[in-house]
Amino acid sequence: MTAPGTRKFWGWGVHGAGPSDEQVAGIQKTVEERFGRSLSRRAPPEIGDLDLPAPRVEPPAALAGLCSSAPDDRAGHHYGKSYRDIVRAYRGEFPHPPDHVARPTSEDEVAALLDWCADAHLTAVPYGGGSSVVGGVETGFDGDHRGVVSIDMERMGAVIEVDRTARAARIQAGAYGPALEDALRPHGLTLRHFPQSFEFSTLGGWIATRGGGHYATLYTHIDDFVASVRAVTPSGLYESRRLPGSGAGPSPDRMMLGSEGILGIVTEAWMRLQDRPTFRAGTSVRFEGEDGFLRGAEAVRAISQSGLFPANCRLLDAAEAQTSGAGDGTYAVLVLGFESADHPLDVWMARAAELCRDAGGIVPEGALATRASRPDSGGGDREGAAGAWRRAFLQAPYVRDALVGVSVIAETFETAIPWDRFPDFHRQVMAATHSAVLRVCGAGQVACRFTHVYPDGAAPYYSVLAPARPGSELEQWAEIKQAAADALIAAGGTITHHHAVGRDHRPWYDMQRPEPFARALRAAKAELDPAAVLNPGVLIDPEPRR
Ligand SMILES: Cc1cc2nc3c(=O)[nH]c(=O)nc-3n(C[C@H](O)[C@H](O)[C@H](O)COP(=O)(O)OP(=O)(O)OC[C@H]3O[C@@H](n4cnc5c(N)ncnc54)[C@H](O)[C@@H]3O)c2cc1C
Repeated sequence: MTAPGTRKFWGWGVHGAGPSDEQVAGIQKTVEERFGRSLSRRAPPEIGDLDLPAPRVEPPAALAGLCSSAPDDRAGHHYGKSYRDIVRAYRGEFPHPPDHVARPTSEDEVAALLDWCADAHLTAVPYGGGSSVVGGVETGFDGDHRGVVSIDMERMGAVIEVDRTARAARIQAGAYGPALEDALRPHGLTLRHFPQSFEFSTLGGWIATRGGGHYATLYTHIDDFVASVRAVTPSGLYESRRLPGSGAGPSPDRMMLGSEGILGIVTEAWMRLQDRPTFRAGTSVRFEGEDGFLRGAEAVRAISQSGLFPANCRLLDAAEAQTSGAGDGTYAVLVLGFESADHPLDVWMARAAELCRDAGGIVPEGALATRASRPDSGGGDREGAAGAWRRAFLQAPYVRDALVGVSVIAETFETAIPWDRFPDFHRQVMAATHSAVLRVCGAGQVACRFTHVYPDGAAPYYSVLAPARPGSELEQWAEIKQAAADALIAAGGTITHHHAVGRDHRPWYDMQRPEPFARALRAAKAELDPAAVLNPGVLIDPEPRR
């Protein structure tokens, strides 16, 4: 057994965390009852069972101290954390692990590692928390390279400098969510970027993928908080000027935001911060009837166009509400929350409730008043439907590991679409995905929630839960994913709102992006990474070595 507290090489989080055996049995029973199938459970692999191929290269003496070829390091850096990744890892399939996992402690060491990779014809995969769900950190795409090094940024994870006046901090890319917030707390400040993967993802990963965080409105992507970026590219240091705003041509920050590790390794960034909120108001609103979700969407549109900008505005359809324990499966639920470090929120909350009632929502009595709380007590309504939803949200990745163990497909996909097209879009995506689920698995559920909303549209997020045939999970999921992604693009949406492109979304990303832009991206890559060392196949086709 691996020691409790160390990261799992096959799944989410650390060994010892997540549901107990008894709880897993409960999850299994619930799914069996829901889909009328009996499921059998397999145990995850032990590190000693793996038969990893030997490393193909050895690091030069000067870098040997930064590199590990320990089996759990190599297996743990083979994949990210998508459903496909967990299935393969749970089966003990690790055919192409990185030859070495390198953990630099300085920009000079990052540069030296990239030089080694270029000189020795190796691929370098930048690695933050490894929570990519799009094949962004997967190794094994070496092409004509002679090996692969996963460059894990965890030793460059400090908050280096805090500017209380401008409310900003200079933070190293390898900072994990909890450590970053711990370092800002004594200053009364917060980044308040809370993706579901917060615990096991890093600032560098959020920047490289343009991650989406806690805020449902106004500040949705990490982009909104980036004041400047510093990166080591194979062609040299890349640093933008820290400014509150600038109209000086295309933004150099933008070039690194969403670059997914193909242009350079982000080493640090100046991030815009906020005072820790002390006032909170929250409630959950029911939308009943067959069209409850669409009426909820109307309420959300009205709220997002009102200028109220709630921190939380998550609309769950009836199935999603039931799965998370926020409802009984007969009505949609809107989880609504406001936060401020400055003022009580009763007026905001009351107006949002009015907009919900106008759309036919049922707002519970007495849920509207602002509650003052300690700055670090977290956010939102911790009781009732909102509290249930939040607890389920944090447990979800652990539950997914358990579902993989009983051959149940549990995966999500997300997108964005303008309001005027939302109802038709949603119908088409639900129909295409649901019919693929029934065709492929014979039973299953597709549910939807909004993760982020804008004055001009929404970011719907779909969850698929379906019993698979043991051994065929990957093929079955691939067919469902193909149907869903084709529907997203055909109906005018984006292949991703915040999960990034990686390798898995390439076919649909290629359809979506303008071709001149693709050429410009390839040219930027050729300039910054002339030996085509970094993350081949992510965002653009692997380039032959130059
Ligand atoms: C359970 C779960 C929940 C999730 N919830 C959310 C969510 O709420 N919101 C959201 O946006 N995403 C979410 N994701 C996806 C994932 O967490 C994000 O893409 C996250 O931003 C990745 O951060 P990371 O540090 O884990 O990066 P990694 O997974 O290590 O890397 C992601 C990509 O960025 C590159 N990269 C990493 N670090 C650097 C660096 N320093 N410089 C250059 N490139 C780098 C990698 O090469 C890779 O292409 C979730 C994933 C899981 C498994």
